[in-house]
Amino acid sequence: MNMILLGAPGAGKGTQAELLAEKLSIPTISTGAMLRAAIRKGTELGKKAKELIDRGQLVSDDVMIGMISERLKEEDCQNGFILDGFPRTIAQAEALDGLGIKIDLALSFDAPDEVIIKRLGGRRECPKCGATFHVDNKPSANGDFCDKCNAELKTRDDDKEETIKKRLQVYYAQSAPLKEYYGEKGVLKEISADQPLDVITAQAFAVVGAN
Ligand code: AMP
Repeated sequence: MNMILLGAPGAGKGTQAELLAEKLSIPTISTGAMLRAAIRKGTELGKKAKELIDRGQLVSDDVMIGMISERLKEEDCQNGFILDGFPRTIAQAEALDGLGIKIDLALSFDAPDEVIIKRLGGRRECPKCGATFHVDNKPSANGDFCDKCNAELKTRDDDKEETIKKRLQVYYAQSAPLKEYYGEKGVLKEISADQPLDVITAQAFAVVGAN
């Protein structure tokens, strides 16, 4: 199954992507995580991306399309994949179509802005390995430290309040129209993200027929 996850930042796409990937034995590909890995490595792309990410803006379509088209050629994607954070614009969705990549399911997680803002405030990330946590919904077993590599957990720079507002504006202007795009293709399914984590997960598993 070729699947994409839609929804505002903080709607829980990353968490559901990991759970679905494990359940379906297909990889989850997060463009945000790929960019943050490039930032940690200090590559040219990472430096350019950091400036945009910290301002709540999107990285250019060309760069992102190049990155994802290379990644999807890899062996582990041949039986399906879950895209978390791509496409984020109509141009990116059209590029997937242009590459001949058929999307079987676009799963959209929707929640009011107040819920999104609260969620983003509780999100934590490991600066060393990139593992993600949430103080309420997905705490580390190791408190304020990563339970995978022991580094002290941090709030993402782009999860700070002033950047969150910009990211939501960008989401509504550039990414929200993707729901209509995939709705017209008949592959859109919507789940309320304003529910307890286990309920959202159960509904997501039911949509993919994996419960
Ligand atoms: P995420 O982890 O998905 O919230 O992504 C973090 C940031 O990375 C976003 O706010 C964007 O600046 C950038 N980014 C991730 N994926 C994309 C994409 N498909 N197109 C443009 N920018 C992206």
